[in-house]
Amino acid sequence: MSWEENVRKVVPYVAGEQPKDPTVIKLNTNENPYPPAPGVAEVIRRFDYDSLRKYPDQDVSALVSALAGHHGLDREQVFVGVGSDDVLAMSFLTFFNSGKPILFPDITYSFYDVWADLYRIPYEDQPLDENFCVREEDYFKENGGIILANPNAPTGVASERSVYEKIIRENPDSVVIIDEAYVDFGGESCVPLIEKYDNLLVVQTFSKSRSMAGMRIGYAMGNRKLIRYLNDIKFSFNSYTMNTVTIAAGVASVEDEAYFAETTARVVATRERTKRELAKLGFVFPDSKTNFIFAAHKTVPAQELFDVLRENKIYVRHWNKPRIENYLRISIGTDEEMDKVLTFLEEYLTNRKCIK
Ligand code: PMP
Repeated sequence: MSWEENVRKVVPYVAGEQPKDPTVIKLNTNENPYPPAPGVAEVIRRFDYDSLRKYPDQDVSALVSALAGHHGLDREQVFVGVGSDDVLAMSFLTFFNSGKPILFPDITYSFYDVWADLYRIPYEDQPLDENFCVREEDYFKENGGIILANPNAPTGVASERSVYEKIIRENPDSVVIIDEAYVDFGGESCVPLIEKYDNLLVVQTFSKSRSMAGMRIGYAMGNRKLIRYLNDIKFSFNSYTMNTVTIAAGVASVEDEAYFAETTARVVATRERTKRELAKLGFVFPDSKTNFIFAAHKTVPAQELFDVLRENKIYVRHWNKPRIENYLRISIGTDEEMDKVLTFLEEYLTNRKCIK
């Protein structure tokens, strides 16, 4: 008998690489290529560092109020955490305790099964259809909770709100979490359903559409009771999850609606152009409503493309997993970055044809 037998063992989630080399074109973790709103820089520049002596506001009131205002909710309907990973992990711990399996798609954010394993929550994955769409009827059975990303990752596919509404309505005895990390790039948010269903929790993040992945801000919105239960878990864990600088920077971001609208529109425009160019080069992909494209080439294997892109300092993401091993997930960068990627791919694919 050794202490090691009693260790909680998990296979951790593997995040995309953060290369040290600044010349890498980094399209592997769905970061936003534009800086945060100018007000964020201003808040950090003028920050009263003496205030760091004190603990931060444990209720994160300023940011909760700003987000409640932005989404047309009450403050009691918003919970803030350190990135949506933190919020999602807390939500699994808070809501998925029935002992029954929780449900999520076979192809989705690969942190869901890691949290389920960490907390010993049984789960059953539900196959997406051949177009990577959710089959709603798969979620009309007994379960201990449901989590769906809309739009989904890494596929980029969004379903209509009505699909999620049916799933939420059919499952009044389970909490249904909709992970809307990418919703601002063209998805249909489930936030308007919050008043109607007390079992719905919607999770969003500042990491993608607000260009603040490095700041770590995520939040959940739902019925007051759900939010109270989430806060009970948070305050049983660590009262001061969010630091003072982050709270102020988060508020500044929410206050600048125009910048938010402008930069998300720019990413969407670049995405649409990139789709057209990738199609011309022989790529196929499900229609993306996110800041990335999940693309497979008609003839060239994804592993080969991943390797040559990497050798040429272009980082994208690839998973050696059934159903998706031939796809690359390419984040949307600036127009200039995408032009470099497209030019590289065009040259590589043309020369490859000549050699064979
Ligand atoms: N949900 C999904 C679907 C994601 O792709 C990500 C980003 N890896 C997250 C949640 C977590 O994002 P963050 O913790 O940066 O808010």
